[in-house]
Amino acid sequence: MKAIRIYEHGGPENLIYEDIAEPDISPGEVLVNVKATALNHLDIWVRTGLSGANYNLPRIPGSDVAGVVSEIGSEVKEIKQGDEVILYPAYFCGKCAECKLGRQTFCNSFVPLGTTIDGGNAEYIVVPEHNLLPKPENLNFNEAAAFPLVFLTAWHMLISLGKVKESDKVLVHGAGSGVGAAAIQIANQFCARVYTTSSSDEKLEMATEIGADVTINYDKESFRDVIFEDTDGEGVDIVIEHVGPATWKESIRSLKKGGRLVTCGATTGPVAELELRLIYSRQISIHGSYMGYLSELNDVLRYINSGAFKPIVDSVFDLKDAPNAHRHMEDRKQFGKIILNP
Ligand SMILES: [Zn+2]
Repeated sequence: MKAIRIYEHGGPENLIYEDIAEPDISPGEVLVNVKATALNHLDIWVRTGLSGANYNLPRIPGSDVAGVVSEIGSEVKEIKQGDEVILYPAYFCGKCAECKLGRQTFCNSFVPLGTTIDGGNAEYIVVPEHNLLPKPENLNFNEAAAFPLVFLTAWHMLISLGKVKESDKVLVHGAGSGVGAAAIQIANQFCARVYTTSSSDEKLEMATEIGADVTINYDKESFRDVIFEDTDGEGVDIVIEHVGPATWKESIRSLKKGGRLVTCGATTGPVAELELRLIYSRQISIHGSYMGYLSELNDVLRYINSGAFKPIVDSVFDLKDAPNAHRHMEDRKQFGKIILNP
């Protein structure tokens, strides 16, 4: 089968398109013919390497997959050949106490697909049966690959950790990012007032179309100033953070008393400054968030199936053009998801 593999960490040219053997399946596993796979920022970390992370190269990257079941193991019960599916975007054991409680991200074996195990940037991927969910009928394969990881992440951040409710004020950084665009839609669905940031007026216009109430071009104005003016100096209830040091300090300062900052990433670097005085005196909570639970992906699916949430496809590349797709993501020109078609 055709696949993208990383043999050495480095630039986009290190995404090698090649022919490799199809993976074998165990009795409880399913072979999925990948029709579309979406890029996430995580793929850049896997390609460039993160200090302290061992990806055990060579590795096929890619966490988000939509496809068709091609072969099933002898113990597979619910799934059959030809089923159109999407994947829960991580491996988990399904047997430990945390998995039994439905907290897959706390499983000791939990890893996103395409990190320390092979992912979906290939013609085929093997996963346990419990990773499969039905592809929404109202979506094509590219759209179906565009939502699992980002909507699941944004749902866990806003609903489970941020506890968003009607009339809450929510700041979502990076309107054009996958998580940002998903968080805007979710916050809007739950009747929150949504503030969002970008350096592109064009992206901010699109953010308004999907539910943002107040858009802020951070190259032209301070998001904290805009928020304070709009909230009579009070601040927001929730900040959805995935930027890191470039926004961290002002994100904390934009929160009202009792506000929640939820972080799922740090694309501008690993270390940020923390004003402890603000944390205790304003009684602020900081939540670390890592993807989300299988039950939450089922919650997201209900909203996708009803048309309330719309996956956003920025662009579609052939699998062999993965290096150009990565360059497009690194240029930060996209609004929504970049898709690869094997
Ligand atoms: Zn487990």
